[in-house]
Amino acid sequence: MSPEEFKRIGYRLIDWIAEYRERVEELPVMAQVEPGFLRSQLPQTPPRQGVGLQGIPQQLEKLVPGLMGWQSPNFFGYFPSNAPLHSVLADIVATGLGQIGLSWQAAPALTELEEVMNDWLRQMFGLPPEFQGVIQDTASTGTLVAMLTARERSTGHSQARGGLQAEEKPLVAYVSDQAHSSVPKAVLLAGFGRDNLRLIETDEAHAMRVDLLEAAIERDLAEGRRPCAVVAAVGTTTSTALDPVRPVALLARKHGLWLHVDAAMAGSAMILPECRWMWEGVEHADSVVINPHKWLGTAFDCSLYYVRDPEHLVRVMSTNPSYLQTAADGSARNYRDWGIPLGRRFRALKIWFALLEEGVEGLQARLRRDLENARWLEAQVRQAPGWRVLAPVPLQTVCVRHEPAGLSPEELDRHTLGWVDRVNRSGRAYLTPALLKGRWMVRVSVGAELTERRHVEALWALMRQEAERVELARP
Ligand code: PLP
Repeated sequence: MSPEEFKRIGYRLIDWIAEYRERVEELPVMAQVEPGFLRSQLPQTPPRQGVGLQGIPQQLEKLVPGLMGWQSPNFFGYFPSNAPLHSVLADIVATGLGQIGLSWQAAPALTELEEVMNDWLRQMFGLPPEFQGVIQDTASTGTLVAMLTARERSTGHSQARGGLQAEEKPLVAYVSDQAHSSVPKAVLLAGFGRDNLRLIETDEAHAMRVDLLEAAIERDLAEGRRPCAVVAAVGTTTSTALDPVRPVALLARKHGLWLHVDAAMAGSAMILPECRWMWEGVEHADSVVINPHKWLGTAFDCSLYYVRDPEHLVRVMSTNPSYLQTAADGSARNYRDWGIPLGRRFRALKIWFALLEEGVEGLQARLRRDLENARWLEAQVRQAPGWRVLAPVPLQTVCVRHEPAGLSPEELDRHTLGWVDRVNRSGRAYLTPALLKGRWMVRVSVGAELTERRHVEALWALMRQEAERVELARP
């Protein structure tokens, strides 16, 4: 494709994307298609000769029925994954410049913009200056890096000797029973073994119980194991519960554990000074992960990983083959040594564009709007007969259940899954059900970029309507 052709088709595609965003509110939120819908519309074999992209907007229309409305104002599922149009432009520029950050020298502008953006965001989150950041693809990767570096700190760099297999004492990691699935996965991938993963029970607010954490650490010590790492969640996936960071940090310090804070979801809210109590004590963490690609508004993927001891991180992660060595090593940062991948996209552009377009205050205003909308919904649910709010609402997720009288727990589960399915199938809104303390409930996750109060009001009316219909249909 020549640059001229790129311009011609590129402008048409920009128009197409803009028009998709203009109609996203009218489209069904959940794709109304069955598995295989696309396969049947595409040829079974690849084109032998290129046909050009002249017809690409029409081809793209085939995908539209199979798109989930992540950017719809009526999206209340999973978590907000905002991809504002300025992020779309940043991603075009990132790919357009074709930079690969193997080292500072391989992409100086990429490296230095990332350094500056990580520091701007650190200031916005209120993290102390000793925290230094690196952009990862996802929180899952950040947490895996945390577990690997924790393991290496506890063992005095076992990887330089016989690895974990040569260690005398098994290492143990502690996470809450509400931790995101990426956390136990990271513990297992880092080689701890299932027998050395402790799922600490949570209290009525679904936060980690520090008394049980302490008891578990002491039991492991008494039985000859080596407590190594603890992960505190600030904003659990199911209910945005807040593990108490300070008491966990005190225990971690007492026993020499690595403290990783998973603030993948709630981290965005830390740009609001009034929310920072939620991670009070975070300054004692060894590592923190925050996903701007959720609520903050830098399109997927963009996850920040902050550490207090970058030297340790680099020691665990660095590689130095001859073909990557440059004269700038030692005087400039090589982000390949700050994580697992060698290559690096120009993701910092998305952060830069977001801050140029919206400024800190613009981002803060949007998050405050979402918090208010969630509080409004919480108040409606609390006042409505037969409805219950099941967890504290510190952030933008409201966990609810409609509980008609006289249902057994199993019938209640069926009722819950029944009405949420009707909401989702209607295409008018999208919600995610989840298990909380063993029973189904519905998470309403507010915070899509376009969601205004009127959308939350319409959702609440739809929830009541569908719950009532399922109740009436019961024999
Ligand atoms: N941690 C928490 C608390 C989350 O809510 C999520 C995603 O929902 C993750 C981790 C994983 O995020 P990622 O998709 O960036 O790996």
